[in-house]
Amino acid sequence: MTALSTTVLSNPNNSNAARLQALVTRKSDTDSLFEITDPEWIKWYTNHFERTWEHQNKQAEITTIYGVHRDKRAALVEQMGKRNQAGVTAYTIKDHASVKNKIYYHGTQRACKIGEKTKTLCTKDECHLCHILRESFRLEHANPRGMFGPGIYSTPNSSKADSYAKNHRIHSHQHAIIVCTVVKGERERLFQADSTRTAPTPGFDSVEGVVRNLGGALNYSETVVYREDAIIPRAVIIYTRKGWAPGC
Ligand SMILES: [Zn+2]
Repeated sequence: MTALSTTVLSNPNNSNAARLQALVTRKSDTDSLFEITDPEWIKWYTNHFERTWEHQNKQAEITTIYGVHRDKRAALVEQMGKRNQAGVTAYTIKDHASVKNKIYYHGTQRACKIGEKTKTLCTKDECHLCHILRESFRLEHANPRGMFGPGIYSTPNSSKADSYAKNHRIHSHQHAIIVCTVVKGERERLFQADSTRTAPTPGFDSVEGVVRNLGGALNYSETVVYREDAIIPRAVIIYTRKGWAPGC
């Protein structure tokens, strides 16, 4: 045996265990996140998160950024399109692929340590975070008393999404918010609450709650879509926060 082949064989990546692990990882990709390690993407997500953190009374520091696997995202878009009752998919995978100006945040309840001790989604009913990451956003879970009716809400402000990010029965100083791709289409701007709404006015694709300094009713903007194929999760940001109090 030559020195070269010894080196190759002794490389841990070539061991049977490592190969098996690679297969297992691939097989379970759809139920796990991957850590984003590309410095360009880390910088991009970090800048976006920091730039859109508008609340002055609290601060956050990113710990880790995770992505939803590309195949998983494509599958979700297809699945959501098929679930659309009209049977017509207005939003295509291509729409979801060109993301950079369509990034919104969604804060929800986390009941496991995904993003800390594990990258694997849990199956607890009360872990809304893992539920969304596995099945995307479902209108059946929409809040019927939402300010703009039972739609799927997201916000351009990381700090507003943070207000909805709750750790449920877990002890952790870290928190998680979902980064979503939202296909807004034609936005209908709403200046006051309308909880009876189940769709935008014909001719529009989404609703935007306008902020007070532009004549609206909100301190921080939010976007609502009423079809499941218009929003998918694409990343999760794990961060620590300072200065947070409920209701901020
Ligand atoms: Zn979970």
